[in-house]
Formats: sequence, C-alpha cells, structure tokens
Amino acid sequence: MSPETNHPDVMEKLVSLAKRRGFIFQSSEIYGGTGSVWDYGPLGVELKKNIKDRWWNAMVRQRDDIEGLDAAILMHPKVWEASGHVAGFTDPLVDCKACKARFRADKLEDGACPRKPSKKPGEFADCQLTEPRLFNLMFKTFMGPVEDSAAVVYLRPETAQGIFVNFLNVQQASRQKVPFGIAQIGKAFRNEITPGNFTFRTREFEQMEMQFFVDSQAPAGQKSDMEWFEFWKEQRMQWHRALGLTESRLHFHQHTPQELAHYARAAFDIQFDFGGTLGFQEIEGVHHRSDFDLGAHQTMSGKRLEYVDQVANRRYVPYVIETSVGADRVTLAAMVDAYREESVPGEEEGRVVLGFNPSIAPIKAAVFALTKKDGQPEFARKLRDDLRTRFTVDYDETGSIGKRYRRHDEVGTPFCITVDHQSVSDGTVTVRHRDTLAQDRIAATAVPAYLDERLR
Ligand code: ATP
Repeated sequence: MSPETNHPDVMEKLVSLAKRRGFIFQSSEIYGGTGSVWDYGPLGVELKKNIKDRWWNAMVRQRDDIEGLDAAILMHPKVWEASGHVAGFTDPLVDCKACKARFRADKLEDGACPRKPSKKPGEFADCQLTEPRLFNLMFKTFMGPVEDSAAVVYLRPETAQGIFVNFLNVQQASRQKVPFGIAQIGKAFRNEITPGNFTFRTREFEQMEMQFFVDSQAPAGQKSDMEWFEFWKEQRMQWHRALGLTESRLHFHQHTPQELAHYARAAFDIQFDFGGTLGFQEIEGVHHRSDFDLGAHQTMSGKRLEYVDQVANRRYVPYVIETSVGADRVTLAAMVDAYREESVPGEEEGRVVLGFNPSIAPIKAAVFALTKKDGQPEFARKLRDDLRTRFTVDYDETGSIGKRYRRHDEVGTPFCITVDHQSVSDGTVTVRHRDTLAQDRIAATAVPAYLDERLR
C-alpha cells in the first residue's frame, strides 16, 4: 500500500495559477470546455517542452543503444487487434482478478482460463470474475470518404505499438544489435471513464515511451532480461530525481500478481506523491513485456519479426523492457512539487514560488530596467537580445521591481537581472536568485556564462 501523504492539496491553487499565468487552459473554454482536455499556454508549452527535451536527451541523444522514432497516430486497424486493444477495450468484459485475463462477458463459454486452459473462465477454483463492464477506451474515427465499418481507424491509445511495428525497420536501418531500444514521444488518446484531477488523467495526452529489446537467452557475460529490467527501473527513477522531484515524494510500486498482466514478467510503477487526497499515484510504468507484442504482431501480420543474431547464428523474437511515462503527468508533478507559499523577510506580503529545477523553468531569466530613462531600457534590451539567442528570456519594465520579482517567482524564473543607473556607467548588472533572494553584481558581458553554469 502507498504510504499516507504528508503534503497539502495544492491542486486547486495550481489550476488557478496555471490559467492566470498562462501555463494551462481548459480546452475550448468559451464553449464551456471539453471534458478532460487541456491546452498548454505560453509558459506551459515551454515547461512541457523542457521536460520532453530532458527525456529525449537522456534516452536517445546520450545513448548509443537507443534510436528515436516518430510514428503516426493513425495506424492500420489490425495493429489494435494484434495488441489486444480492440477486443480488450470495446466489448462487454469481465476481468478475472486472480489471473488478470479479460473475457467477453457474452462469450464466456468460448474462453479458457490461462492458468488451466481446460477450464472456462469462472470454473477454476480461485477465478475471481468481476461484474461485466463496458470498456471503450479507444476513440474511433473513419479514414477516407465513406463512414462504414471497413473505414474504421483508431486514435492510438498508446505510442508503443508504433515502435513494435517498426522494430525491424529501425533495427535494420540503424544496424543496431540486440540489446537496443527505440524511443518516441507522441500523443495518445483514451476515452477515459473516470478522468480528472486537472491534467492527471485526461483524454488526450502525451507519452514518452521506450521499448528496449533484449535476448531472453543472453550469453554469459551479458545482462540478462531481468538485469536489464532492474537497470531501466533504476535509470528511470534517477531521471525523475534529476528533474528535481523531491526524493521522498517518489517511490516504486511493484505490481501485485493480481495487477500484473498475464504476459508480463515483472512490472513496477514509479509513483509521485501529489499531496492531498490524490497522494501517491503512477507517473511512469516500467514493464517486462516478454515477447508478447512482437509475437502478436508476427502472428497477425504473417511477417517475421525476428532478430537475426549472426554471431550466434540464431533468430529469435526479443523480449521487451518498456519504460512508459506521461509527459503531462510529469509536468503536473513538477508543478505540484515546485509550488510553495512563503513569507519574505522585511515584507508584509508573502510570495508564491514555483521552485522548478532551473533547467526546466519556462523562463530562464527576466531582464528589468529599473527606470524607463537614462539609457537603461536600451541597455536592458540589448542584454535581453544577447541572452535570447540561447535562453528563454523575458523583458519587463512595468511596475515596481518588487512586483516584477513576485511575477517571476510565481512562474519559476530562476534569475532576475536588473539594469540600473550604475549599469549604464560601469556595465554591471545585479542578478537576483529566486530561491535564496541573494543578489550578485556582475558585468553584463559575464551574464551568459553565469547563466550557463547554473542552468545545467
Ligand atoms: P493509469 O493506471 O493511471 O490509468 P495506466 O497504467 O493505464 O495508467 P499506462 O498505460 O502504463 O498507464 O501508461 C503509461 C503512462 O502514461 C502512465 O504512467 C501515465 O503517466 C500516462 N497516462 C496514461 N493514461 C493517461 C491519461 N489518461 N492521462 C494522462 N496521462 C496518462
């Protein structure tokens, strides 16, 4: 069981801040909104992009053994038959809590218990069948001008299948050898029955998925499939920590035998403590999927999806270790974790801070001119222009400096740079730090290197 949360519920405050400051808006708000669909505003799009870039850098650019992919959202309908989504998501179903298999409620007599194939579902001693439920998580649409059943296509409910069907294309084009992985970031759609909690569970969302293909009979001296599973589990937890998520708010949840899909050999979720009643919830899944997916596509398509190991003179369908994380869910976790209200020494009014890891902050530095005269705005705008070739920078000359600081604290800008009368004469500026409120006076020409060092 997940431990109780010690963190307050900041979701309501965050929803309001997110709208007011341009992180996240309700989709089609002027028409009353679209159920559980959200739009990212100017700051939200930067924040989410920074998170996706960190993932892409860690998973693709910094590794020799992972290739990138951007597969289409619309796929051949057979893909979803092979993957089990058509059968699993659109029929009246019963789940067996004991073995996690799903059966057509109206065709139980055709089913077989996976643990005792001679028995029908419900007949084996500890079968635990739920009441029939309608699952319809996939969005259906039509391809081409005719709206009939032959033209049905689905909006993908996960990005992974684009990787499986391209397994050999990527392997052959990149001349990768098992073990290797394929990674992609893309939209997924689920007609969720119980969406909610802001962007936590939405009907349109983005996934960052990586499928790592391994040999189920790895020769001595190479990592076994379970060792790769452990490796990726640790790597992914490390990534969330490096993103700045508080360590004590992160933990693993091991799937119980009841939760484990019938083909899965092991599965852990990385959970984050969202505070309040939501508490610890999944943000990422790390799954050992065996050869289920490639095997299913091989059978359905009739095309071999085997890896040819020329050294060992073997061909086989690799096992898959999957890491699957929601870009929106991690963005929300980063916002929840970063949100704090605090008093400011010497000031009556407190401040709200989004204390993001500087590398994901939507604006890296704000440049202020103390007054609108004496060449200060020109100096400040020149500095802004120099900086924005490399960083996202905001220029602001309205309101008191205190008010400008507050505005930028609230959106998580790590550095505020002020140009004053001294700047115009000696070329120095002050850099104020969001978290410590400390101020450094440095040469304007030294600012790019100063930021570089602190934004890694
Ligand atoms: P949950 O149990 O929360 O529905 P899941 O186990 O169905 O999630 P997966 O299919 O493993 O999720 O998807 C991998 C990741 O994709 C999840 O960890 C989550 O971050 C993200 N994700 C899945 N469904 C949604 C959704 N409806 N809205 C936002 N993100 C989602």
